[in-house]
Amino acid sequence: MEHIECLIIGSGPAGYTAAIYAARADMKPVVYEGMQPGGQLTITTDVENYPGYPNGIMGPEMMELFKTQAVRLGTDVRFGLITSVDFSSGKPPYIVSVDDNIQISAATVIISTGASARWLGIPSETRLNGSGVSACAVCDGFFFRQQPVAIVGGGDTACEEASYLAKICSKVYMLVRGDNFRASKAMQHRVLNTPNIEVLFNTDTDEILGDKAVTGLRVKNNKTGETREVEIGGFFVAIGHTPNTTIFKPWIEMDATGYIITKPDSTHTNVEGVFACGDAQDKTYRQAVTAAGTGCMAALDAERYLSSVMHSK
Ligand code: NDP
Repeated sequence: MEHIECLIIGSGPAGYTAAIYAARADMKPVVYEGMQPGGQLTITTDVENYPGYPNGIMGPEMMELFKTQAVRLGTDVRFGLITSVDFSSGKPPYIVSVDDNIQISAATVIISTGASARWLGIPSETRLNGSGVSACAVCDGFFFRQQPVAIVGGGDTACEEASYLAKICSKVYMLVRGDNFRASKAMQHRVLNTPNIEVLFNTDTDEILGDKAVTGLRVKNNKTGETREVEIGGFFVAIGHTPNTTIFKPWIEMDATGYIITKPDSTHTNVEGVFACGDAQDKTYRQAVTAAGTGCMAALDAERYLSSVMHSK
């Protein structure tokens, strides 16, 4: 069985930063890229708030640069999914499965599996997913050029995506369930000052209409109970994310929503030799730069852990 000194699960800013540090510390890191190589930034456009890029950079390009840097320093980046882990012994090495068919062992594990888009959970959303229903305006907005679309959510993501859609679609209905946005003031202003965005507050999605593809939407005012139908071609969901931590649940301490709990001021989990960083353990900041910061911490913690084990032998 292959033995890895530092296994990094996930390839967003946290995973690649951990890899850069682990490689420089001679830990021969192996990164398994997971379901979405490069992570969530690969489905965004401009990143304007990552220091060091004064003119901004496209998300996918930035992640390619992260990867190039990690590889140049000696990281082994592999396409594949860690499908299960066994931390039951509470002491490394741990056995993990790749793509359900290969088993490897790891002396340290860094969890940087990030988070995934959340869905409303109504039947018409599931039925029409991929046929006009999407959780990524940047990926799929293009298909609805010059058509009316709707987006649900009132956070920064929803505002950012509504602004993006407004540039290519004829009209954007923005469905906010409360009577206020959650987004920052700057994003709110941008949305409210875009003429072809109509914000519907106190509004729920009653049903997405269409037989084989989205053709319309029935919305419901949750204060008055009034319903209304609008014609749309695309329906976008931007209501937050769920951490990708299910496979770790039997062993790793998490909060009620699945975010991994790390020990204060560190990336140590409750399991020896297992560290967590990025959006899998951060529900507060969730920025590329903070994910990268905790990725660095995880590699430093893993390195210190390994040398303490070595010295105690
Ligand atoms: P948030 O959790 O901030 O917002 C989620 C939004 O979806 C809220 O308006 C919430 O409503 C709404 N919502 C949740 N569940 C439902 C539901 N079932 N039906 C209808 N509406 C629902 O998620 P975001 O993805 O917007 O942002 C995540 C983090 O990333 C934030 O910290 C944000 O600031 C950051 N971010 C920063 C950006 C930037 O700086 N450029 C860009 C994008 C994100 P309610 O408020 O009523 O709970």
